[in-house]
Amino acid sequence: MATLQRRLVDYIVTTTREADLPDGAGVGISLGAALNGRTGEVLGSAPLWGPGRYPFDLTARLRQRLPDIRFHLLNDVTALAHAVRAAHPAPGVSSRAAAVTVSSGIACRTIELGTGRIPLDPVHGLQGEIGHLPVDVRWRGKVRENRCDCGALNHLSAFSSGRGFESLLATLPEATAFRERPGSPGPAVRAFTERVRQGDRHAAELLDLFTLPLAKVLLCHATLDPEVEATFLFGGVVEGLGHHYRESLIRNLEELGLYGITDRDKNHFRNRIFLGDDDGLAALRGIDAYLRNSLDDNH
Ligand SMILES: [Zn+2]
Repeated sequence: MATLQRRLVDYIVTTTREADLPDGAGVGISLGAALNGRTGEVLGSAPLWGPGRYPFDLTARLRQRLPDIRFHLLNDVTALAHAVRAAHPAPGVSSRAAAVTVSSGIACRTIELGTGRIPLDPVHGLQGEIGHLPVDVRWRGKVRENRCDCGALNHLSAFSSGRGFESLLATLPEATAFRERPGSPGPAVRAFTERVRQGDRHAAELLDLFTLPLAKVLLCHATLDPEVEATFLFGGVVEGLGHHYRESLIRNLEELGLYGITDRDKNHFRNRIFLGDDDGLAALRGIDAYLRNSLDDNH
């Protein structure tokens, strides 16, 4: 683990040196790892370092190597939330938006559009690590069990992330048609994505199974944080499936229904859930917006 973390530090140091920046320059880093938004401490990342907690202070390590550069570290989903705010400035201070990423893991970040404030746990500095919420998944009446990258059983990411898709496509009897080579999940995801894009009903039915656990979490989010006026979807899974992914999620949300609202407003979720930018650069734009706002606040 220490080796992987050292390689990450080496990579950032090498890339920064190659950029030949002047002393005092700022470098923004968007990192796909849970981190304490109050202290910047990196808590762990199952996709990067596997199950378990491997805390380390990345910015302190970078400062030791390059003391003349100012490093600013943000979680990647936090950066996406800032990108959402930059692209959709809001008139009121009370309204909020959320960024949800569905890639190798899943996370959500809510941001106040008026102020740019991201509410965090006052002690632990976290918000919206929804990928590790427990979920109850059934398929054709049977309970499905899947292990999350973090090591626990039946977390949201174990079913609805890209890794969850791979696992379900590799094991569900109904997914046999998508397994070009049994036991080789990569091609199955490609075959599945292709069939969804072609409008295959069987593939769409499987996609609805994959998005249902996330739909249930977003339903709770809508109930508990009603000022979230828009939720933007990002990440490799969303980019691969495009509007088919959004339609599946909305189908599930409309089927589940939001008490007191969807019976009166059929388009409630359709008017609140959108695809985010899919060029893979949104998090970097978010860091840029965040740093510009920080500079404005300091002058
Ligand atoms: Zn987990």
